[in-house]
Order: sequence, then C-alpha cells, then structure tokens
Amino acid sequence: MANNEQTFIMIKPDGVARGLVGEIIKRFEAKGYYLRALKMMNVPKELAEEHYVDLASKPFYPGLVNYIISGPVVATVWEGKGVVVTGRKLVGATNPLASEPGSIRGDFAIDVGRNIIHGSDAVESAKREIALWFPEGLAENKPTSLQWI
Ligand code: ADP
Ligand code: MG
Repeated sequence: MANNEQTFIMIKPDGVARGLVGEIIKRFEAKGYYLRALKMMNVPKELAEEHYVDLASKPFYPGLVNYIISGPVVATVWEGKGVVVTGRKLVGATNPLASEPGSIRGDFAIDVGRNIIHGSDAVESAKREIALWFPEGLAENKPTSLQWI
C-alpha cells in the first residue's frame, strides 16, 4: 500500500459556516494523516459543475452546485497509507442519517443536501479532483521527519 496516497477532502460551505474546520482537520491529523495542502476559497460555478460532472443528470445537481458556491469552502489534500478508503470512513456515508456515529457526517449532520464535507471515492477520482482544485500544484512541504509516512 502506497505511503504517499493522496485524497481530496473539501469542507463544504455549511461545514465552514458552522465552525467545523478545526474539528475536521483534527480528526484527520489524529488518525495519522498528513495535511499536504489547504486553501480557503470561494468556488467558481464552473469548478463546482466540473467537480460534480458525474452527477449532472441527477435532479439534485443544480441545487448541489448552488450549495457548493453558496459560501467559502476549505479545500484540502491529505496524504498517507490508505487515505482514500479510510478518509471515506472518517467522512461517513453520503446520507448523514445513515452515517455511523463517530464519523464526521454521523456526528455533525442530518441532511444529505447539507452534509458538510466531501471526500474522494477512489484513488483515480482523488487524482482528478486534486488536479482540478489545485491546478497550481502542491508545494513541496513535507517535513523531513515525516518522510516515512
Ligand atoms: P458522496 O459525497 O458521499 O461521495 P455522492 O458522490 O453520491 O456522495 O454525491 C455527492 C454529493 O451530492 C453528496 O455529498 C451530497 O452533498 C449531494 N447529494 C447526493 N445525493 C443527494 C440527494 N438525494 N439530495 C441532495 N443532495 C444529494
Ligand atoms: Mg462522491
């Protein structure tokens, strides 16, 4: 299993507005993952549309795009062993009513349309999403002491 696997985690506008940024970062750090990149940003509509392009035919797609552009998000990249699959476990099931308590959605949300956080669902989609959200690339910021991660 690759030590340098990466995933894209976004704290959605409701997560930011509710003051959950620190809590979410804390959980990923506590698990042992390395915060590889982070930026707070307002999301251009085209970026929200492209991020969720696979869902474009769904009836909730227009509302989903409007939700993502409704306020600032915190876009992050996390790195470490098994971070895509384990990151999804930390995030919890899509519908917060079905998310296990102990997961982020399970602990902090009740509405599928306001589920506070995004996490990539596979290594390949993580690569696509990281390239989409960080077109500038990631800074070489990994401390020498963590090279083993
Ligand atoms: P996940 O975010 O868990 O990967 P999906 O990729 O299936 O879930 O959906 C992307 C996002 O679309 C969800 O996180 C949620 O914000 C929104 N969404 C999914 N299903 C619905 C729905 N039935 N009604 C409203 N929004 C939805
Ligand atoms: Mg998804």
